[in-house]
Amino acid sequence: MYTDIKTILDDAVKNHYAVLAGGAFNLETIRGLLGAAHDEQAPVIILTGQNMIKRHAHTEIIVPMVKELAEETNVPVALVLDHGRDWNMITQTFRAGYSSIMIDASAYEMKENIERTRKVVDLCHVQGGAVEGELGHVGQAASLDGCDASMYTRPEEVMEFLAATHVDSLAIACGTAHGKYPQGFVPTLNFDLIRTVRSMTGVPLALHGTSGAGDENIRKAVEAGINKVNVATDIFCCCRDKTKQMLEEDPDYDYIQLCIDVEKECRKICRRFIRLTGSSGKAANFHKTFDFDRSQNRGLLDEGE
Ligand SMILES: [Zn+2]
Repeated sequence: MYTDIKTILDDAVKNHYAVLAGGAFNLETIRGLLGAAHDEQAPVIILTGQNMIKRHAHTEIIVPMVKELAEETNVPVALVLDHGRDWNMITQTFRAGYSSIMIDASAYEMKENIERTRKVVDLCHVQGGAVEGELGHVGQAASLDGCDASMYTRPEEVMEFLAATHVDSLAIACGTAHGKYPQGFVPTLNFDLIRTVRSMTGVPLALHGTSGAGDENIRKAVEAGINKVNVATDIFCCCRDKTKQMLEEDPDYDYIQLCIDVEKECRKICRRFIRLTGSSGKAANFHKTFDFDRSQNRGLLDEGE
């Protein structure tokens, strides 16, 4: 069932769990992610970033594909433009049918962050879309700037930001970073910061840059009040490594079989993350809201473990 992040994440806040927001940009990764959500009967969020869209995952192809696949399962599915920064890209993806937009104006001062975020909220809310904003700045793992506490979300700014923007979900910076950490590095998260923000508001909280953060950190972050766990790098590396392994075993590997096997591997790692977020079985919470008679189930999503 195709829906938006507000519908999904409000239930996560109410029932104290988190939802996997997985990076996915082609048939294999999107179907792998949705297949995992179907297997686990968990709500799920698909993230596509600006660069993915520009380079490969064109909206006119991605939106109908996601909607078609979402209608084949009874789990709620939302499609998000992740880290939308350009106004043109934001309006284009929203018009193309994205249900949700994440506006990242976190590199700006608070005032400009609010203005830019509010503009996107004004665009999306009147047409039934949902918006995530970012307060504080989640940096890049390669430069280890996720450890820079000066970029963390300041709790004293949270209520002003929420009141001024009306975002449906809030990305906070509390110790994680985007991309791949150096070998052996495990980030230290500020769980007290998560708990403090959680105690202030009922707005869903998003943790970005969760790849490589470790299972224990994810569990604790969810326990502290995180409702959306963004994972992209780990999913992409998993698919790449599977491809590499298969080609090393057999350089003449059948390409169609290779795509099928990559999708299976993607499905497996996404199931693992879904279990860590605590969202398994939570699709049942939405059954009252949605009309599942539209579900066509043509067996596409029936090939789990
Ligand atoms: Zn992010």
